[in-house]
Amino acid sequence: MSLEEAVLGSVPGETRRVLEGALEGRDLRVDDAVTLCSARGPSLHALVAVADHLRRTQVGELVGYVVNRNVNFTNVCAKACRFCAFSRTRRSEEGYFLPIEEIVRRALEAQAFGATEVCIQAGLAPGVDARFYVALVRELKKAAPAMHVHALSPEEVKFAATESGWSFRRVLEEMKDAGLGSLPGTSAVVLDDRVRARIAPGRITTAEWIDVVTTAHAVGLRTTSTIMYGHVETDIERMRHLDLLRSIQRQTGGFTEFVPLSFVHEEAPMTLRQQLPDLRTGPTGDDVIRLYAIARLMLGSTIRNVQVSWVKDGMRQAQWLLSCGANDFGGTLINESISTAAGSAHGQLQTPLALRRAIRDAGRVPFERSTRYDVVRTFGPDAGPDERHPLDGVEDPDATFGSYERLTRDERFKFRLPVAAP
Ligand code: SF4
Repeated sequence: MSLEEAVLGSVPGETRRVLEGALEGRDLRVDDAVTLCSARGPSLHALVAVADHLRRTQVGELVGYVVNRNVNFTNVCAKACRFCAFSRTRRSEEGYFLPIEEIVRRALEAQAFGATEVCIQAGLAPGVDARFYVALVRELKKAAPAMHVHALSPEEVKFAATESGWSFRRVLEEMKDAGLGSLPGTSAVVLDDRVRARIAPGRITTAEWIDVVTTAHAVGLRTTSTIMYGHVETDIERMRHLDLLRSIQRQTGGFTEFVPLSFVHEEAPMTLRQQLPDLRTGPTGDDVIRLYAIARLMLGSTIRNVQVSWVKDGMRQAQWLLSCGANDFGGTLINESISTAAGSAHGQLQTPLALRRAIRDAGRVPFERSTRYDVVRTFGPDAGPDERHPLDGVEDPDATFGSYERLTRDERFKFRLPVAAP
């Protein structure tokens, strides 16, 4: 038996046709992508091989990461998304709120440890409005002008607009004037109102999400793009989501990357309350691999960067995803809170050293990048003696930067109304 027969012999004809089309540079239609959602065993191997080949031709061997810090400045939220284990009500004993001075202090501390980006996302707390977000970004840029501020999900933009009676465009323009660098394309979940009504009723709608994101792109702010998957969505809903992101990108060119986010089920309210009989416990390992590989085939020529999420999938699976179509390792995060609250056990920080080790062991070449994917620092294929980064020396992240768990018990930051006005 030849190697080709061994590898491709039991791949069904329809799957082969779709994979051959992708190799010839044909656009994957939604029904083609749905066909690939059935790839198992040899078909999955073939899908992964095609995704890896396309990744190599589209973006080469380099794998980037950004040194950043997450500041989830409040967990108090007016909404109650059924998948979210992070949010607390305003009366909860565990509700916290970091004043602007503390957020700035955390950004400066991260900068002293070599961070180039601060990522700010939080709950939708009473007392917060557009003026608060604008003042926050202005103060951050005043204190740390070189720091890239990556902040405000579409859900937060909608909240700011609603609380202040501003349009989405005005929120985004004022934020840009204050120094906002880019926005996370989170709160996308699955861009399908049937799915949204089931797992996040009352949340930003598909049309509103598209409106915020395309308006951000129109005013010159780039965003990431995401999917949160592995709960109640169907294959076709997933693939329509990818198709929608592709068409937005063709229109605006404003997405920096695509980041698949596995649903972390352990502490999610909809798991604990058994609200949905068909709820899955997140994607399986193969399901994660399939989604990454399909994303490379479907999006790679339009959204070039496909990013792993070590905080959702763990370092070991994240490393393997580099061979399944991904080309970016995300960030160091420093204070990841949202997945930690949901029960993820993959930690709140990865050092640049750990990221480089995983990248190199996958046979690739690491580089430190900015949020906009400019090169901050290059490295060779092998570890050298002068690579040490200030974060590499952090042995106990919780002791150095604090933990989410401690924050929810810290009397200094307990949520109280009125919140500290800017
Ligand atoms: S996902 Fe966001 S909007 Fe929904 S409950 Fe959690 S913090 Fe609030």
